[in-house]
Amino acid sequence: QAKSLGRARYSFFLPEFNTRRQASVALEQQLSEAIERREFVLHYQPQVHAQHGHMVGCEALLRWRHPARGLLAPGEFITMAEESGLIAEMGLWVRDEACAQLARWKAEGLRPGVMAINVSALEFRDHRLVDSLRDAMMRHDIAPQEVEVELTESALMADSDTSLRIIDRLVELGVRLAIDDFGTGYSSLAYLKRLRPHQLKIDRSFVRDIATDADDRAIVKGVIGLASTLGMDVTAEGVEDEGQRSFLCQEGCTYLQGYGIARPMPAEDVARWMRERVVSPV
Ligand code: C2E
Ligand code: MG
Ligand code: MG
Ligand code: MG
Repeated sequence: QAKSLGRARYSFFLPEFNTRRQASVALEQQLSEAIERREFVLHYQPQVHAQHGHMVGCEALLRWRHPARGLLAPGEFITMAEESGLIAEMGLWVRDEACAQLARWKAEGLRPGVMAINVSALEFRDHRLVDSLRDAMMRHDIAPQEVEVELTESALMADSDTSLRIIDRLVELGVRLAIDDFGTGYSSLAYLKRLRPHQLKIDRSFVRDIATDADDRAIVKGVIGLASTLGMDVTAEGVEDEGQRSFLCQEGCTYLQGYGIARPMPAEDVARWMRERVVSPV
Protein backbone atom coordinates (compact mmCIF):
# COMPACT_ATOMS: atom_id res chain seq x y z
CA GLN A 1 0.00 0.00 0.00
CA ALA A 2 2.79 2.33 0.90
CA LYS A 3 4.50 1.44 -2.33
CA SER A 4 1.52 2.17 -4.50
CA LEU A 5 0.98 5.39 -2.66
CA GLY A 6 4.60 6.27 -3.29
CA ARG A 7 4.26 5.56 -6.98
CA ALA A 8 1.03 7.46 -7.20
CA ARG A 9 2.71 10.44 -5.61
CA TYR A 10 5.69 10.15 -7.88
CA SER A 11 3.65 10.10 -11.05
CA PHE A 12 1.56 12.93 -9.72
CA PHE A 13 4.55 14.99 -8.68
CA LEU A 14 6.73 14.63 -11.74
CA PRO A 15 4.59 16.18 -14.47
CA GLU A 16 3.59 19.00 -12.18
CA PHE A 17 7.21 19.60 -11.34
CA ASN A 18 8.07 19.69 -15.02
CA THR A 19 5.40 22.17 -15.96
CA ARG A 20 6.34 24.31 -13.02
CA ARG A 21 9.97 24.22 -14.08
CA GLN A 22 9.08 25.07 -17.65
CA ALA A 23 6.90 27.90 -16.43
CA SER A 24 9.72 29.27 -14.33
CA VAL A 25 12.23 29.04 -17.18
CA ALA A 26 9.75 30.94 -19.34
CA LEU A 27 9.23 33.52 -16.62
CA GLU A 28 12.96 34.00 -16.22
CA GLN A 29 13.30 34.52 -19.96
CA GLN A 30 10.49 37.09 -19.84
CA LEU A 31 12.08 38.76 -16.84
CA SER A 32 15.34 39.18 -18.70
CA GLU A 33 13.50 41.05 -21.46
CA ALA A 34 11.26 43.08 -19.17
CA ILE A 35 13.53 46.12 -18.84
CA GLU A 36 13.96 46.53 -22.57
CA ARG A 37 10.24 46.07 -23.08
CA ARG A 38 9.61 48.74 -20.45
CA GLU A 39 7.44 46.43 -18.39
CA PHE A 40 8.75 47.55 -15.01
CA VAL A 41 7.13 50.37 -13.16
CA LEU A 42 7.64 51.83 -9.72
CA HIS A 43 4.81 52.47 -7.34
CA TYR A 44 5.39 54.77 -4.41
CA GLN A 45 4.06 54.52 -0.88
CA PRO A 46 4.00 57.76 1.13
CA GLN A 47 5.56 57.97 4.58
CA VAL A 48 4.25 60.54 7.04
CA HIS A 49 5.49 62.14 10.22
CA ALA A 50 3.76 60.40 13.12
CA GLN A 51 3.15 63.59 15.12
CA HIS A 52 2.37 66.17 12.43
CA GLY A 53 1.02 63.91 9.71
CA HIS A 54 2.86 65.62 6.89
CA MET A 55 4.53 63.63 4.15
CA VAL A 56 8.24 63.11 4.72
CA GLY A 57 9.00 60.82 1.83
CA CYS A 58 7.97 57.69 0.03
CA GLU A 59 9.24 54.21 -0.68
CA ALA A 60 9.73 53.06 -4.27
CA LEU A 61 8.23 49.59 -4.77
CA LEU A 62 8.86 47.65 -7.92
CA ARG A 63 6.06 46.23 -10.05
CA TRP A 64 6.17 44.16 -13.22
CA ARG A 65 3.45 44.76 -15.77
CA HIS A 66 3.50 41.23 -17.08
CA PRO A 67 1.95 41.05 -20.56
CA ALA A 68 -0.21 38.04 -19.69
CA ARG A 69 -0.42 37.95 -15.90
CA GLY A 70 -1.00 41.61 -15.16
CA LEU A 71 0.67 43.62 -12.43
CA LEU A 72 3.06 41.48 -10.38
CA ALA A 73 4.44 42.39 -6.97
CA PRO A 74 8.09 41.66 -6.13
CA GLY A 75 7.15 38.52 -4.20
CA GLU A 76 6.48 36.90 -7.57
CA PHE A 77 9.81 37.65 -9.22
CA ILE A 78 12.49 39.13 -6.93
CA THR A 79 13.87 35.75 -5.84
CA MET A 80 14.11 34.69 -9.45
CA ALA A 81 15.86 37.94 -10.29
CA GLU A 82 18.34 37.33 -7.50
CA GLU A 83 19.01 33.73 -8.44
CA SER A 84 19.54 34.57 -12.10
CA GLY A 85 21.68 37.62 -11.45
CA LEU A 86 19.18 39.88 -13.23
CA ILE A 87 18.74 41.80 -9.98
CA ALA A 88 21.79 43.94 -10.76
CA GLU A 89 20.32 45.32 -13.95
CA MET A 90 16.90 45.72 -12.35
CA GLY A 91 18.43 47.58 -9.42
CA LEU A 92 20.18 49.89 -11.83
CA TRP A 93 16.86 50.69 -13.47
CA VAL A 94 15.08 51.14 -10.12
CA ARG A 95 17.66 53.65 -8.83
CA ASP A 96 17.57 55.67 -12.03
CA GLU A 97 13.79 55.70 -12.24
CA ALA A 98 13.31 56.57 -8.55
CA CYS A 99 15.65 59.56 -8.89
CA ALA A 100 13.99 60.59 -12.17
CA GLN A 101 10.56 60.53 -10.52
CA LEU A 102 11.72 62.55 -7.54
CA ALA A 103 13.04 65.15 -9.98
CA ARG A 104 9.74 65.17 -11.92
CA TRP A 105 7.67 65.77 -8.78
CA LYS A 106 9.97 68.57 -7.70
CA ALA A 107 9.71 70.12 -11.16
CA GLU A 108 5.91 70.08 -10.68
CA GLY A 109 6.37 72.16 -7.54
CA LEU A 110 5.68 69.31 -5.13
CA ARG A 111 7.67 68.51 -2.01
CA PRO A 112 7.92 64.74 -1.89
CA GLY A 113 10.71 64.58 0.69
CA VAL A 114 13.03 61.61 0.79
CA MET A 115 12.95 58.78 -1.74
CA ALA A 116 13.51 55.40 -0.10
CA ILE A 117 14.95 52.77 -2.42
CA ASN A 118 15.14 49.03 -1.68
CA VAL A 119 18.43 47.37 -2.47
CA SER A 120 18.76 43.60 -2.56
CA ALA A 121 21.22 41.99 -0.17
CA LEU A 122 22.99 40.50 -3.18
CA GLU A 123 23.81 43.95 -4.53
CA PHE A 124 25.94 44.65 -1.48
CA ARG A 125 28.58 42.37 -2.98
CA ASP A 126 29.37 44.75 -5.80
CA HIS A 127 30.82 48.24 -5.48
CA ARG A 128 29.06 49.30 -8.68
CA LEU A 129 26.02 49.76 -6.47
CA VAL A 130 27.58 52.93 -5.08
CA ASP A 131 28.69 54.24 -8.48
CA SER A 132 25.32 53.61 -10.07
CA LEU A 133 23.48 55.37 -7.28
CA ARG A 134 25.81 58.36 -7.46
CA ASP A 135 25.37 58.47 -11.26
CA ALA A 136 21.58 58.33 -10.96
CA MET A 137 21.57 61.18 -8.43
CA MET A 138 23.85 63.29 -10.63
CA ARG A 139 21.84 62.58 -13.78
CA HIS A 140 18.65 63.81 -12.16
CA ASP A 141 20.14 66.50 -9.96
CA ILE A 142 19.14 64.82 -6.72
CA ALA A 143 21.01 65.59 -3.50
CA PRO A 144 22.20 62.63 -1.41
CA GLN A 145 20.07 63.73 1.57
CA GLU A 146 17.01 63.17 -0.61
CA VAL A 147 17.76 59.48 -0.95
CA GLU A 148 17.47 56.68 1.58
CA VAL A 149 18.82 53.22 0.89
CA GLU A 150 16.82 50.42 2.52
CA LEU A 151 18.82 47.33 3.27
CA THR A 152 17.72 44.20 5.05
CA GLU A 153 19.71 42.55 7.78
CA SER A 154 20.67 39.79 5.35
CA ALA A 155 22.77 42.32 3.42
CA LEU A 156 25.22 42.10 6.30
CA MET A 157 25.39 38.34 6.33
CA ALA A 158 26.43 37.37 2.82
CA ASP A 159 29.92 38.79 2.74
CA SER A 160 30.16 41.16 5.61
CA ASP A 161 33.54 42.70 4.78
CA THR A 162 32.54 43.73 1.30
CA SER A 163 29.05 44.77 2.31
CA LEU A 164 30.35 46.84 5.21
CA ARG A 165 32.74 48.66 2.90
CA ILE A 166 29.95 49.32 0.43
CA ILE A 167 27.71 50.61 3.20
CA ASP A 168 30.50 52.90 4.40
CA ARG A 169 30.84 54.26 0.88
CA LEU A 170 27.11 54.93 0.72
CA VAL A 171 27.34 56.85 3.97
CA GLU A 172 30.31 58.84 2.60
CA LEU A 173 28.20 59.61 -0.44
CA GLY A 174 25.74 61.21 1.98
CA VAL A 175 22.64 59.12 1.39
CA ARG A 176 20.53 58.01 4.32
CA LEU A 177 20.61 54.42 5.46
CA ALA A 178 17.60 52.47 6.74
CA ILE A 179 17.45 48.92 8.06
CA ASP A 180 14.34 47.37 6.54
CA ASP A 181 12.17 44.73 8.23
CA PHE A 182 14.11 45.37 11.42
CA GLY A 183 13.88 42.56 13.92
CA THR A 184 13.17 39.76 11.46
CA GLY A 185 16.75 38.96 10.44
CA TYR A 186 19.90 37.96 12.22
CA SER A 187 21.84 41.16 12.59
CA SER A 188 23.39 41.80 15.95
CA LEU A 189 23.21 45.03 17.89
CA ALA A 190 26.93 45.37 17.21
CA TYR A 191 26.04 46.09 13.59
CA LEU A 192 23.77 48.91 14.65
CA LYS A 193 26.62 50.39 16.61
CA ARG A 194 29.02 49.92 13.72
CA LEU A 195 26.72 51.14 10.93
CA ARG A 196 24.78 53.84 12.69
CA PRO A 197 21.88 53.74 10.25
CA HIS A 198 19.73 56.86 10.17
CA GLN A 199 16.63 54.81 10.47
CA LEU A 200 15.10 51.51 11.58
CA LYS A 201 11.96 50.25 9.89
CA ILE A 202 9.91 48.09 12.24
CA ASP A 203 8.66 45.11 10.30
CA ARG A 204 4.93 45.01 9.84
CA SER A 205 4.70 41.59 11.49
CA PHE A 206 5.32 43.37 14.82
CA VAL A 207 2.83 46.14 14.05
CA ARG A 208 -0.05 43.98 12.87
CA ASP A 209 -1.21 42.63 16.24
CA ILE A 210 -0.31 45.56 18.45
CA ALA A 211 -3.90 45.74 19.72
CA THR A 212 -3.98 42.16 20.98
CA ASP A 213 -0.40 41.01 21.49
CA ALA A 214 1.46 42.35 24.51
CA ASP A 215 4.74 40.88 23.27
CA ASP A 216 4.49 42.80 20.01
CA ARG A 217 3.73 45.97 21.93
CA ALA A 218 6.82 45.38 24.08
CA ILE A 219 8.99 44.73 21.03
CA VAL A 220 7.77 47.84 19.25
CA LYS A 221 8.32 49.95 22.36
CA GLY A 222 11.77 48.43 22.75
CA VAL A 223 12.81 49.17 19.18
CA ILE A 224 11.56 52.75 19.42
CA GLY A 225 13.46 53.19 22.68
CA LEU A 226 16.64 51.68 21.30
CA ALA A 227 16.48 53.84 18.19
CA SER A 228 15.82 57.02 20.06
CA THR A 229 18.66 56.35 22.51
CA LEU A 230 21.02 55.80 19.59
CA GLY A 231 19.73 58.88 17.78
CA MET A 232 17.99 57.01 14.98
CA ASP A 233 14.57 57.55 13.46
CA VAL A 234 11.97 54.79 13.40
CA THR A 235 9.41 54.08 10.72
CA ALA A 236 6.61 51.66 11.48
CA GLU A 237 5.61 49.58 8.46
CA GLY A 238 2.17 48.17 7.79
CA VAL A 239 0.15 50.72 9.74
CA GLU A 240 -3.40 49.87 8.79
CA ASP A 241 -5.71 51.20 11.48
CA GLU A 242 -6.26 53.96 13.99
CA GLY A 243 -5.41 51.77 16.99
CA GLN A 244 -1.96 51.02 15.61
CA ARG A 245 -1.46 54.65 14.63
CA SER A 246 -2.30 56.04 18.05
CA PHE A 247 -0.17 53.47 19.88
CA LEU A 248 2.82 54.24 17.66
CA CYS A 249 2.34 58.01 18.08
CA GLN A 250 2.07 57.66 21.82
CA GLU A 251 5.25 55.59 21.97
CA GLY A 252 7.19 58.18 20.00
CA CYS A 253 7.57 56.44 16.66
CA THR A 254 8.96 58.97 14.18
CA TYR A 255 7.31 58.03 10.88
CA LEU A 256 4.41 55.90 9.72
CA GLN A 257 3.89 53.91 6.55
CA GLY A 258 1.03 51.58 5.67
CA TYR A 259 -2.28 51.06 3.92
CA GLY A 260 -4.00 53.08 6.65
CA ILE A 261 -2.06 56.14 5.50
CA ALA A 262 -1.73 55.39 1.81
CA ARG A 263 -1.28 52.37 -0.42
CA PRO A 264 1.60 52.13 -2.86
CA MET A 265 0.44 54.10 -5.91
CA PRO A 266 1.56 55.04 -9.40
CA ALA A 267 3.45 58.35 -9.54
CA GLU A 268 0.48 60.40 -10.84
CA ASP A 269 -1.71 59.19 -7.98
CA VAL A 270 0.94 60.13 -5.43
CA ALA A 271 1.12 63.61 -6.98
CA ARG A 272 -2.66 63.95 -6.58
CA TRP A 273 -2.44 62.57 -3.04
CA MET A 274 0.18 65.20 -2.19
CA ARG A 275 -1.93 68.01 -3.65
CA GLU A 276 -5.18 66.95 -2.03
CA ARG A 277 -3.85 65.99 1.36
CA VAL A 278 -5.00 68.20 4.16
CA VAL A 279 -2.84 67.70 7.20
CA SER A 280 -4.56 68.17 10.52
CA PRO A 281 -2.30 68.18 13.55
CA VAL A 282 -3.07 65.55 16.17
P1 C2E B 1 9.48 46.06 1.95
O1 C2E B 1 10.63 46.86 1.49
O2 C2E B 1 9.41 45.70 3.38
O3 C2E B 1 8.20 46.89 1.49
C1 C2E B 1 7.00 46.96 2.18
C2 C2E B 1 5.98 45.99 1.64
O4 C2E B 1 4.83 46.01 2.47
C3 C2E B 1 5.49 46.35 0.23
O5 C2E B 1 5.17 45.13 -0.43
C4 C2E B 1 4.21 47.11 0.55
O6 C2E B 1 3.28 47.12 -0.51
C5 C2E B 1 3.68 46.34 1.73
N1 C2E B 1 2.83 47.15 2.60
C6 C2E B 1 2.90 48.46 2.86
N2 C2E B 1 1.97 48.83 3.74
C7 C2E B 1 1.27 47.73 4.06
C8 C2E B 1 0.16 47.47 4.94
O7 C2E B 1 -0.38 48.35 5.61
N3 C2E B 1 -0.27 46.17 5.02
C9 C2E B 1 0.30 45.17 4.29
N4 C2E B 1 -0.21 43.94 4.41
N5 C2E B 1 1.35 45.38 3.46
C10 C2E B 1 1.82 46.64 3.35
P2 C2E B 1 5.62 44.87 -1.93
O8 C2E B 1 5.49 46.13 -2.74
O9 C2E B 1 4.91 43.65 -2.39
O10 C2E B 1 7.17 44.57 -1.80
C11 C2E B 1 7.62 43.42 -1.12
C12 C2E B 1 9.11 43.46 -0.92
O11 C2E B 1 9.81 43.39 -2.16
C13 C2E B 1 9.62 44.74 -0.27
O12 C2E B 1 9.40 44.69 1.11
C14 C2E B 1 11.07 44.70 -0.67
O13 C2E B 1 11.80 43.87 0.19
C15 C2E B 1 11.02 44.07 -2.04
N6 C2E B 1 11.12 45.13 -3.06
C16 C2E B 1 10.21 46.00 -3.49
N7 C2E B 1 10.70 46.82 -4.45
C17 C2E B 1 11.99 46.47 -4.61
C18 C2E B 1 13.07 46.96 -5.43
O14 C2E B 1 12.94 47.92 -6.20
N8 C2E B 1 14.27 46.32 -5.31
C19 C2E B 1 14.46 45.28 -4.45
N9 C2E B 1 15.66 44.71 -4.40
N10 C2E B 1 13.48 44.81 -3.66
C20 C2E B 1 12.27 45.39 -3.73
MG1 MG C 1 11.56 48.46 2.02
MG1 MG D 1 10.01 46.34 5.08
MG1 MG E 1 9.19 43.38 3.94
